[in-house]
Amino acid sequence: MVDFSFTEEQLMVQKLARDWARGRVLPEIGKRDAAGEFDPAVLREMGELGLLGLSIPPRYGGTGNDYIALGLACEELEHVDTSLRVVLSVHIGLNSLTLLTWGSEEQKQRWLAPQARGEKVSTYGLTEPSAGTDALGIQTTAHKDGSDYVLSGEKMWISLADVADHFMVIAWTDVERKKRRDHTGMSAFLVERGMKGLTTATIHGKLGVRAGNTGSIAFDDVRVPGANLLGREGEGFRIAMFAIDQGRYTVAAGSTGLIRACLDASVGYAQTRTTFGKPIAEHQLVKEMIAEMAGDYEACRLLWLKAGWLKNEGRRNTRETSLAKFYGCAAAEKAASNAVQVHGAYGFSSEYNVERFYRNAKGAQIYEGTREIHKLLQADYALGLRTDKPTRVTLPKPEQE
Ligand SMILES: Cc1cc2nc3c(=O)[nH]c(=O)nc-3n(C[C@H](O)[C@H](O)[C@H](O)COP(=O)(O)OP(=O)(O)OC[C@H]3O[C@@H](n4cnc5c(N)ncnc54)[C@H](O)[C@@H]3O)c2cc1C
Repeated sequence: MVDFSFTEEQLMVQKLARDWARGRVLPEIGKRDAAGEFDPAVLREMGELGLLGLSIPPRYGGTGNDYIALGLACEELEHVDTSLRVVLSVHIGLNSLTLLTWGSEEQKQRWLAPQARGEKVSTYGLTEPSAGTDALGIQTTAHKDGSDYVLSGEKMWISLADVADHFMVIAWTDVERKKRRDHTGMSAFLVERGMKGLTTATIHGKLGVRAGNTGSIAFDDVRVPGANLLGREGEGFRIAMFAIDQGRYTVAAGSTGLIRACLDASVGYAQTRTTFGKPIAEHQLVKEMIAEMAGDYEACRLLWLKAGWLKNEGRRNTRETSLAKFYGCAAAEKAASNAVQVHGAYGFSSEYNVERFYRNAKGAQIYEGTREIHKLLQADYALGLRTDKPTRVTLPKPEQE
């Protein structure tokens, strides 16, 4: 059976995200983006609305919506600005859903519940100054000292680094395995702001996502209790890859919001701007750009919806999620470039939103697996060099009250 309709609950989440993002954030986003200014009120309001608890079961403080509702919220948020969707990507996708799946009951009560209620903001730190794609090249270590671990190293390019309260951090716990690049030497930790030796900073001068916070985290012998180890020692790499499956899903869903924003802006402009005595919407080459945006929006939406459906079913979806992210982000970059084109010189100026869309679209070709990595993954699946084992840990099915 195939059903293309959304449930009332999914539509409610979509409307909630749309109304808030358009009503509250859109009027001032151009100003904030130009100033490179992150608005902390955005996080507080998202928390109050329940957006920071989407897809987390009510018994852990969340709203209990399914993963399609989460995708719809991402689409609506990114229709207004990528920085809003990034909040859900790191706080829910990378951190909370991973904690929900891998955390002990005690860890979930202690960290997940306040995150889902919006009282604490969380993020995820894998990337470092010298290693992004090459995750086994990270240098951060966590050595055991009694029942504690002592973390040292630096994370870079971390979304919300300078504003988050909770950090999920990947580090090497086995230096011999680190030398051999054996991923079973990595572990995942739940680290909190305020721990001695932990400092964060904001990265300025970014091309896009300027209204969002991106930064670095330094660990100067940060003592972390053993209770903060997520999963077992040696499971850090698996946890990191699991987290990315969820983060990528939110990026894929968000990318269709960006495509639709480009489509909406281009349709509006093409109908009013005239050349040679008629609206540019009547020129075939302008229509071509609009047609591609419309087609890409629908196609990319089907890709993330399928990944979301698999998540709802508790089934493995690494290939489908990667494909949705790969196509969605490539199409968003193309749509944003063409939206600037449709606007001519005005598209080249911050007077119109499409200039911001163009800069924001580039980021998603880099984070949550670069364009090249997804291309390689998809080729490997097609060539039979990679398969998704159904037995691997998957997200729990959505849980309502
Ligand atoms: C706005 C933003 C937000 C981010 N947020 C987070 C976050 O919250 N948490 C986090 O951990 N990280 C985050 N990142 C980091 C992001 O995940 C990394 O930038 C990404 O993984 C790429 O790593 P890199 O920048 O080190 O590039 P590199 O890995 O150095 O790659 C450089 C280039 O080489 C290519 N390349 C590398 N290896 C191969 C290969 N084997 N085959 C073909 N091509 C290859 C890449 O595709 C890329 O084009 C963020 C980045 C940005 C820009």
